[in-house]
Amino acid sequence: MSDKDWQDYSIETQGIRAGQHRTPEGEHSDAIFPTSSYVFKNAEEAADRFSGRIEGNIYSRFTNPTVRAFEQRLAAMEGAEYALATSSGMAAINTVCLGLLKAGSHVVCSRNVFGNTTLTFKNIMQRFAVETTFVDLDDIDAWQSAIQDNTTFLFIETPSNPLGTLADIKKLADLAHQHNALLIVDNVYCTPVLQKPLNLGADLVVHSATKYLDGQGRCVGGAIVGDKALIIEKLLPILKTTGPTMSPFNAWVFHKGLETLSLRMEKHCQNAMEVAQWLEQQPTVEKVYYTGLTSHPQHGLAKQQQTGFGGILSFTVKGGQENAWSVIDSTQMISITANLGDVKTMITHPETTTHGRLSDEERAAGGITDNLLRLSVGLENVEDITDDLARGLNAL
Ligand SMILES: *Cc1c(COP(=O)(O)O)cnc(C)c1O
Repeated sequence: MSDKDWQDYSIETQGIRAGQHRTPEGEHSDAIFPTSSYVFKNAEEAADRFSGRIEGNIYSRFTNPTVRAFEQRLAAMEGAEYALATSSGMAAINTVCLGLLKAGSHVVCSRNVFGNTTLTFKNIMQRFAVETTFVDLDDIDAWQSAIQDNTTFLFIETPSNPLGTLADIKKLADLAHQHNALLIVDNVYCTPVLQKPLNLGADLVVHSATKYLDGQGRCVGGAIVGDKALIIEKLLPILKTTGPTMSPFNAWVFHKGLETLSLRMEKHCQNAMEVAQWLEQQPTVEKVYYTGLTSHPQHGLAKQQQTGFGGILSFTVKGGQENAWSVIDSTQMISITANLGDVKTMITHPETTTHGRLSDEERAAGGITDNLLRLSVGLENVEDITDDLARGLNAL
């Protein structure tokens, strides 16, 4: 079947079937093509490929069958025409920047994005005369007033890390389009299984495949998904020229990861909900941040634009940093690591890790207090997870 045909299938099927191209060997599982270059039948074919007169593989910086298989599968799942794989999530974001921005451009970016995304705009793009205005994710009036005549795109991550604040994707897409700007959505937390930003009006989705798309913490990679013409015209030339390429081996791992993504996300959501509800009952827990809880101020919006609430939650303990650290240090099973989106449950103290580089004011504005802990809830038995947390919480 051609890749277009997969658009009519459900996401579980797309994750398993889209983007597979069997070789004459008839392999059932996908082959890996670890090759840097390709041979041509003759000089004329080489010339035709290089000039673009005929399609085909040229060099693995920008054409590789395994990478293409992953791109086609992810594109089908996001409901998109096209995807471009990159060497990391940050490479995806930087490819978007290099492809769409120029000196004198302006960006409006959510204050609540991945730390290196903030640094990309604040430090790197700034050096190339691109100005960025940072605004609160959920303050639509602030977005409106931040837009200028030279605004090229709005950039968001929803739900945001670590407090699970949401943006109304449709409203922001409409706002961007009224001003001839694009909306770019980092969809790492939800994955296409729980949220399809392109269907809500976003122009491009970026991914860190390192997280849930792999889901087992093996490889670093990323992707950009969206309109074929936009990607081919503006972003593919950047990938071709500057080379933030995904390796065939990593592409194969991600391609296989997508086969179980729907199933994993369903279970991540179920476990996270149970842990969140359990945490709400604990006397030493002050507050739980999870969009699946009716106590979350944006629970309604989450239900409207997502099909699940995801695997990440945060909570504050009574007391300060000392108590937060002692909960971390009392765990025996949960991994003490600042990563997310793995089958293994992970715990981190954002103030001193993921958000450690921010100023005190920036942390205060983002609600990153010294008693806040973030959990990326994995797929272990949920009682084993709560038992591990209970050890530290009961001792406070
Ligand atoms: C990890 C992450 C990134 C960056 O991805 P890398 O693969 O680590 O480069 C970007 N956005 C979000 C939300 C992330 O969690």
